[in-house]
Amino acid sequence: MSNCIFCSIIKGDIPSNKVYEDDDILAFHDIQPAADVHVLVIPKKHIASLNELDSSDEKLIAKLTLHIPKIAKTLGLDAGYKTLINTGKGGGQQVFHLHYHIIGGKIHALESLKHIG
Ligand code: 5GP
Ligand code: ZN
Repeated sequence: MSNCIFCSIIKGDIPSNKVYEDDDILAFHDIQPAADVHVLVIPKKHIASLNELDSSDEKLIAKLTLHIPKIAKTLGLDAGYKTLINTGKGGGQQVFHLHYHIIGGKIHALESLKHIG
């Protein structure tokens, strides 16, 4: 999608600090980390949010989810971590390309949690 920040990151038009990439998935550090470790994991397919998923995305989402612990391990989050998906404006979603947040270590700010409801 041409006006999507995360699609531009996938294409390489916007630089990012990547931590994992394969044909279907990209993981990169959040530009405004809310915690010691704050990584976003996205499908390369543009899906606006959880609300736009359909059954054809089943394998992709399973793969994405199965990669979360692997990526967390490479980030050294052996003690554990939080995952977060904001859905819709009322859910605090700012970038409408589906993404997991992986949040580890000390939390500094979690602005998106202030907007739920
Ligand atoms: P949301 O509120 O949609 O769940 O989260 C969007 C996240 O994307 C925010 O934490 C924000 O800091 C991050 N973000 C927005 N633009 C960029 C960008 O250009 N590069 C990176 N690495 N992160 C971004
Ligand atoms: Zn996109």
